[in-house]
Amino acid sequence: MAASAAETEFILKRPGDLLTFSSALKLNFRRHLLAWYDHHRRDLPWRTSRDPYRVWLSEIMLQQTRVAAVIEHYQEFLRRFPTVEKLAAARESSVLAAWSGLGYYRRARMLHAAAKVIVRERGGKFPTTEQELRTLPGIGRYTAAAIASIAFGEPTAVVDGNVERVLQRLSGKRMAGEALWTAAGNLLDAKRPGDFNQAMMELGAVVCTPRDPACPTCPVVQFCTMRGEFAAKEKAAPQKKREIHYVLDHHIEDHRNAGRRNVEVFLVQRARDASLMPGMWELPKITGTNGTGSPSFTLRHSITVTDYTVQVWRCAAPSHVSGKWVSVKRLRQVALTGLARKILRKAAIL
Ligand code: SF4
Repeated sequence: MAASAAETEFILKRPGDLLTFSSALKLNFRRHLLAWYDHHRRDLPWRTSRDPYRVWLSEIMLQQTRVAAVIEHYQEFLRRFPTVEKLAAARESSVLAAWSGLGYYRRARMLHAAAKVIVRERGGKFPTTEQELRTLPGIGRYTAAAIASIAFGEPTAVVDGNVERVLQRLSGKRMAGEALWTAAGNLLDAKRPGDFNQAMMELGAVVCTPRDPACPTCPVVQFCTMRGEFAAKEKAAPQKKREIHYVLDHHIEDHRNAGRRNVEVFLVQRARDASLMPGMWELPKITGTNGTGSPSFTLRHSITVTDYTVQVWRCAAPSHVSGKWVSVKRLRQVALTGLARKILRKAAIL
């Protein structure tokens, strides 16, 4: 959708202050952005429904987790807990097991707690406004605005990392805090708030990316002050590197008389007060190799700013470690850490 020559000239002269965009300019911006979104949006499973339970689930899963990983878990989670009632009635260990692989398990606990509030205190009905949604456990300003606009059409803007970057580049200003929310609200399309919010986030995710924005193909390039000039200055934080070692101790129980074999794996539970993944199950960790032999296999695993080289040793767990033997058949119901699941998959046990 091309801008007229007069419009383009006017836009190019602008200082780029989003807060002073005229009504006509805002209308044009929305038109360009939404037309692009309607044609180019990614076909994601949670975009087929405006059901608040599904919107809520996808928004919680997408916090701090890549879209590809969420796609893998979203459908399976819904298969296990198709309604908010089923989720509220589930045991916490089952919810954590279904969440395994997504990380940041506090989100799953909060999701579960909020489901209980919705079912017990609201008869299974979701709050429909941003303000009311914010009273639920685990729902902050962003998530409340996302659910209210996408599921209920409330004209309220969202600001996440993608929207923040887009707004800063559009305006050429290092806006922060409340200024970002005001700028987003000022641009918002009140007739299609859910689509507008998703379009802004989509633009940041696939076009206006952190290191390499595709300005020549950007649908709102004519409204943008920076056009990629921030990109060179935004270097990713360097990743830390660490090596960790795990023991993969498993045995086969041969019930010949009954004609079956049962594989069991030795697992340990993380402390209930651990700051990361409390109460979840993993393989026993060891400090090193004693300089003998070599690991059975190695894999890579990243958590936030740390890249781990994970060495896996097939041997007996140290005798001082307390844990329990878990049948491979039961592993799907166990709240395993994402890394434990990855190791067991690589070892062809899971
Ligand atoms: Fe981002 Fe470039 Fe589009 Fe500006 S023109 S919003 S910098 S992709």
